Amino acid sequence: MIELYKKIENGERLTKDEGVKLLKEGDFLKLGELANLIRFRKHPNKTVTFILDTNINYTNVCYVGCSFCAFYRNKDDKDAYTLTIEELKEKIEEAEKNGVETALIQGGLNTELPYSYYLDMVKELSKSSVHVHAFSPPEIDLMSKISKKSIKEVLIDLKNAGLTTIPGGGAEILSERVRKRISPKKIDTARWLEIMEEAHNLGIKTTATMMFGHIETDEDIIEHLCNVRKLQDRTNGFRAFIAWDFKKENNELGKRVDRVTSGIDYLKIVAISRIMLDNFDNIQASWASQGKDVGEVALHFGANDMGSMLIEENVMRQAGFRAESTVEEISNIIRKSGFEPALRTTDYKIVKYL
Ligand code: SF4
Repeated sequence: MIELYKKIENGERLTKDEGVKLLKEGDFLKLGELANLIRFRKHPNKTVTFILDTNINYTNVCYVGCSFCAFYRNKDDKDAYTLTIEELKEKIEEAEKNGVETALIQGGLNTELPYSYYLDMVKELSKSSVHVHAFSPPEIDLMSKISKKSIKEVLIDLKNAGLTTIPGGGAEILSERVRKRISPKKIDTARWLEIMEEAHNLGIKTTATMMFGHIETDEDIIEHLCNVRKLQDRTNGFRAFIAWDFKKENNELGKRVDRVTSGIDYLKIVAISRIMLDNFDNIQASWASQGKDVGEVALHFGANDMGSMLIEENVMRQAGFRAESTVEEISNIIRKSGFEPALRTTDYKIVKYL
């Protein structure tokens, strides 16, 4: 293990097998120390950023039915909904009034929505000052099927409508062994990566995400990290990596999973992500996922960003998890941890120090 630690200190890249060994046998505090070392090499100052964000889910109708999802509904369910473009505009106007920087817009995979709905949505919402950060790869894939256009053509249409960034959702664990068991109807690893690569090649920046803490093994986690690292080597199109842990409430997978993800498990993942993803600038501490205390410690485990201060959040709320905060509270958490808080844009430019 000492040799691995040395390799990391020397700035050398770890192989997949070394990553697995580190995750399985690495000393918890040593992982934090090494991740922190890399963080300060990339970001020598003590700035920790976050963004004022709203999370808008335009529909909860979805035919895919992932076993971990508490959010989706069948189209005939009483509480199924799809927002009109007018309703979406009202939400964006509200967000604009609240000084929101970016709107993360995602939905279920609703096969009844026409292709024009997505293009009109981007066109209309992009007129506001709020940055539109919309449609993860599974949604882009659905648009390609509905429109009978290639992924590239769909992305060009969306770009022409005003879309410049897309979120990294729908990745969960980029390992087929896991995907076949938790979301067999969702796009596979190769398709997720292909859509991201097309987006990057068109100048559309994205994030990469990971949802862990269910049936995956340490090997699956490292496979996921190596998959996004390999694509990043080719495109440099991922702006950040965000990991969050699986929430068990109100979903089918939760009944099958016994393990509980602790704060320590989460911090280990933050650190291992910083160490393995040597070509990513930004690693987020998803305080909304594990709570503020753990988010605070994550800043000493390689994270340089506190993610979003959410105005509206439906998906985790459906899974029985609610995390709320204020700009002041997040700023204080960052200061208490020994860092300097700053609000940022979607492309990680500083808006202002707080
Ligand atoms: S995670 Fe997304 S694709 Fe899967 S069921 Fe939920 S809404 Fe549908």
